[in-house]
Amino acid sequence: MRILLLGSGGREHAIARALHLDPAVTALHVAPGNPGTQAFADNHVIDPSDPVAVTELAARLRPELVVIGPEAPLIAGVADALRRNGVLVFGPDRAAARIEGSKAFAKEVMAAADVPTADARVCTTDDQVNEALDVFGPPYVVKDDGLAAGKGVVVTEDRELAVRHARACGRVVIEDYLDGPEVSLFALSDGNTAVPLMPAQDFKRAYDGDEGPNTGGMGAYTPLPWAPEGLVDEVMATVVQPTIAELRRRETPYVGVLYAGLALTSKGVRVVEFNARFGDPETQVVLDRLATPLGGLLQSCAIGGLVPDQRLEWRPGAAVTVVVAAEGYPESPVKGDPITGLEEAAAVEGAYVLHAGTKVNEDGVLVANGGRVLNVVGTGPDLAAARDTAYEAVGRIRLRGSHHRTDIALKATRLG
Ligand code: AMP
Repeated sequence: MRILLLGSGGREHAIARALHLDPAVTALHVAPGNPGTQAFADNHVIDPSDPVAVTELAARLRPELVVIGPEAPLIAGVADALRRNGVLVFGPDRAAARIEGSKAFAKEVMAAADVPTADARVCTTDDQVNEALDVFGPPYVVKDDGLAAGKGVVVTEDRELAVRHARACGRVVIEDYLDGPEVSLFALSDGNTAVPLMPAQDFKRAYDGDEGPNTGGMGAYTPLPWAPEGLVDEVMATVVQPTIAELRRRETPYVGVLYAGLALTSKGVRVVEFNARFGDPETQVVLDRLATPLGGLLQSCAIGGLVPDQRLEWRPGAAVTVVVAAEGYPESPVKGDPITGLEEAAAVEGAYVLHAGTKVNEDGVLVANGGRVLNVVGTGPDLAAARDTAYEAVGRIRLRGSHHRTDIALKATRLG
């Protein structure tokens, strides 16, 4: 199978790695990819969100499947353009990707499908905003209606800040605060049938102890020893299946991965958000554990051939990923500093390094080129071992001014 993967982050390096390990995958192209994917796949320098550039590349490479990593190409209609040209795609059309692209649309679908989520109001005027803040009370949750790369959400006790954020966004969703731990569950869908992957947890805040600003994600782990028995079956029955059915009913069938961000509240499971693609960095740990070959699985989704009740195979043990972030991330990451120690990190048994924001500069030196620079993955028989492995490898990497959290999966090792 020849596959073209779109994207360039740590998530895409993880997807590419899993595809590379699938014996059925005979050729792997990534656009644009990163120095990590270049090691075993062919990178192509194009804008993955440009439908014309992507269809031209697909016409040239003739992949049997295109896998879309990030949300931007989905929202830009790249899947639609490829399908119009007869190319098989893993990733929803623009209409179905609105489940991520518009928080108001996601709420509308959830209401129609009776999916449990926070009560919410869509607001555009100051009066509406103030009324909604009165109704829901603090802590206030104010979300930009549009795509904001995880940065459009403000959760605050400060009413002034809530109002200011709403004004800055224009159109917002204001909703009830959800307490309780968060879980990310990815389900692969062919438009009719969906199968779940293993749940994972990510760490959104920049600093240890969940302090500091929100980020794209600073680390993740799986499995979740503290997750209640039957959680995945419950979420499939009450969240994923009804949502897939509702999108099919609207004649915008959902083909791709539906990412359910969940809060396990005292009143039960609630959807915090949907995303239309794999989560970054949870994918890095979830795909590490997946033993079922990924290429065939994604192809089954693209052709509408998932087998209901298909059980995926999982490797025993655990995986932890730690994000090494550039100095100044998330506010203003410093780019261009050299990265060393990657071979030493990869020499730690059970560890490997995925590239996210890196590039090879004009002098042939690997340098930081983004906020989240590297994902160090540690594996082991249990979370404690996987964590130790990941951090031993992180300790061998040198990047001036870089920072990482030291508490990824720490609480979970004490629980299980
Ligand atoms: P979202 O982009 O909707 O996932 O929001 C980003 C983050 O904000 C989530 O991962 C949560 O940590 C937090 N958040 C979003 N909605 C709520 C809510 N209703 N209650 C509490 N926290 C929330």
